[in-house]
Amino acid sequence: MKIDLHCHSSFSDGIFTPQQLLKIAENKRLTIFSITDHDSVSGTAIAKRESANYSFSYITGIEISARYKQEKIEILGYNFNADNSAFKQSLVKLQNSRKERIYKILAKLHEIGIDISYDDIIKEVGNASSPGRPHFARAMKTKGYVNSVKEAFTEYLAEGRPAYVPRLTIEPKEAIRLINQANGIAVLPHPLFVEKHDLGRMEELLDLLISWGIRGIEVYYNYENIFTNFPAKKILGVKNFLLDYCKQKDLLVTGGSDFHGDKGGLGEVYVPKEYILQIQSFFNL
Ligand SMILES: [Zn+2]
Repeated sequence: MKIDLHCHSSFSDGIFTPQQLLKIAENKRLTIFSITDHDSVSGTAIAKRESANYSFSYITGIEISARYKQEKIEILGYNFNADNSAFKQSLVKLQNSRKERIYKILAKLHEIGIDISYDDIIKEVGNASSPGRPHFARAMKTKGYVNSVKEAFTEYLAEGRPAYVPRLTIEPKEAIRLINQANGIAVLPHPLFVEKHDLGRMEELLDLLISWGIRGIEVYYNYENIFTNFPAKKILGVKNFLLDYCKQKDLLVTGGSDFHGDKGGLGEVYVPKEYILQIQSFFNL
């Protein structure tokens, strides 16, 4: 059994359309699948409609960008009512701030002699409702300013680099509240991104997130591909800590690839069968 509850379509910063992702999910023989675009439900709504033609169970998903004390904390939402008006209004606000940011990043790039136009970015963005830095990185690569998307980030777009522009984000507490009031389930993705060096601090943060209404943790994630200089043993230690924590607090254990279309693969994340069965019964699949 394989699942993937975290991936991005062309409606945010992924490369593939929801239709293409559904086909890949079918080819990978997934049991449960969810598209979780950044601050957008357009792609996941299309996928939900078309998923009836496929053999896996589809869960409506989203990944809301949030920030807590200067730190980026994203929140995954599942099985919510995408037509909930408060939910929709908040997403429009977040999407507008992303659009405004395009101009600010362009201006900073121009200041340092990188000649990328608004049209270059829009070509990369396509039909996405959540333009983001990956679109800039791809445009910079297309125009030959960098050799890779990664280089665009480390040289220009990452926090502390010359073309970095912060974006309006909401607090995780608010993101969780929005998902819950739309009858969804809030899950913390890739917890290792948050407090990667200190389990004590991680536990403090997790306790806080639970008090705000989080119901699960994405324990299974390919950290090994991202923290390449982080010892595998340490990653395993964190995973075991998280599994214990989820058991203690009765939280859902989930897993996702965070596939964007370039590196890694859809469904290429190992989730033990016992947790897949739990997810199935939790969502009545
Ligand atoms: Zn993601």
